[in-house]
Amino acid sequence: MKKDLSNIKKSKFYLDKNECVGIPTETVYGLAGNAYSDKATSKIFKLKKRPRRNPLIVHYCSLKMLQNDCYTNNNFFKLYKKFCPGPITFVLKLKKNSKISKNVTNKKNTLAVRFPKHTKTRKLLKSLIYPLAAPSANISTQISPVSKKDVKDEFGKKIKFILEGNESKIGLESTIINLKNKPQILRLGGIEISKINKVLGTKLKFIKNKKLIAPGQDKVHYSPGIPMRLNIKKPKLNEAFILIKKRKIAGKNLFYLSKNKNLKEIAKNLYKTLRMIKNKKYKSIAVEKIPNKGLGETINDRLLRASKF
Ligand code: AMP
Ligand code: MG
Repeated sequence: MKKDLSNIKKSKFYLDKNECVGIPTETVYGLAGNAYSDKATSKIFKLKKRPRRNPLIVHYCSLKMLQNDCYTNNNFFKLYKKFCPGPITFVLKLKKNSKISKNVTNKKNTLAVRFPKHTKTRKLLKSLIYPLAAPSANISTQISPVSKKDVKDEFGKKIKFILEGNESKIGLESTIINLKNKPQILRLGGIEISKINKVLGTKLKFIKNKKLIAPGQDKVHYSPGIPMRLNIKKPKLNEAFILIKKRKIAGKNLFYLSKNKNLKEIAKNLYKTLRMIKNKKYKSIAVEKIPNKGLGETINDRLLRASKF
C-alpha cells in the first residue's frame, strides 16, 4: 500500500477487498462494507455482534444506483428533495433483480436506504461501483460512535481502516420512515417528525414497539453499561450528573450537554458525554429532564433505551 494514497483511496482499497471500514457521517460513524457482497456484510454482523435478524441500512450517493435496487414512489421523491443528503432513512420495496446481499435485508423484500451528507463519505461512495451497508460502528447495544477515536475504542485492530471525518455534526442516528405502503415512522432520529409531516401533508406519529417492522428497535440500546436515572433534579453522591442548562453549582461530576437547552447541541454532545462518563468509571448517571419536543423526542428515546441496562 503506497503511503501517498489518499485516505479515501485507502478506504476504497479495503472495501473492494470485502473488508470493513469505519466511515464518518453526519449522524454517527458507520461500519461500512460492500452491500452487494455476502462476505463483507457477514463481517459487519460478526464485528458488531449484531443479531442477524436486524437488517442494515444501505448508503447511496446517486438516485440511479438506488433505483437498481429498489422501487421509488412519490412520497420518497418529496422527502428526498427536501432532506437528502441528510439524516433520513427510507424503507422501500426491494427489486427482485437487485444485487443486495441477503444478509443486509434478513431475506425481507424491503430495503432501508440513506443518502449521507458527509463530504468525504460522499466522495468515497462516488468512487465505488456498489453501495455501502453501514450500521453504526459500535458493538451491538453499546453507545454509538461520533468520532474516529470512538470507532477505534470499539473495534481496535479488528478493522482495517477508519476514514477520519471529524466529529459527527448531528450526533444522533437517522429518522427511519417506511414508505413501502402508507408512510410510517419506524425510528425517531435527526429529522423531526413535524418537518416530515409538513412535506407529506400527513399527521404521522412515532408509535413505539413496532418490533416486527423494525426488528432492531430493541429496548436496550445505546447503553453506557451503567445504571442511568432520568428526569433527575438532584444527583446522588458520586453520581455523574448530565445537565442541559447552566446552574450555579460546581463539581467534577457535572457534565453539560448545553448551557442553554439548545437541542441540537444536546444531541451532538450526548453520545460523546455518555462515553466520557463511562471511561471515567462512574458507577451511575443521573440526567436532568429534557424537553420532549422536536429533537428532544429523539434524545429522550435514546436516553430511555440507554437506561434499560
Ligand atoms: P443501525 O444500523 O444500528 O442504525 O440500525 C438500523 C435500523 O434500521 C435497525 O433498527 C433496523 O430495524 C432498521 N431497518 C433496516 N432495514 C430495515 C427494513 N428493511 N425494514 C425495517 N427496518 C429496517
Ligand atoms: Mg446502531
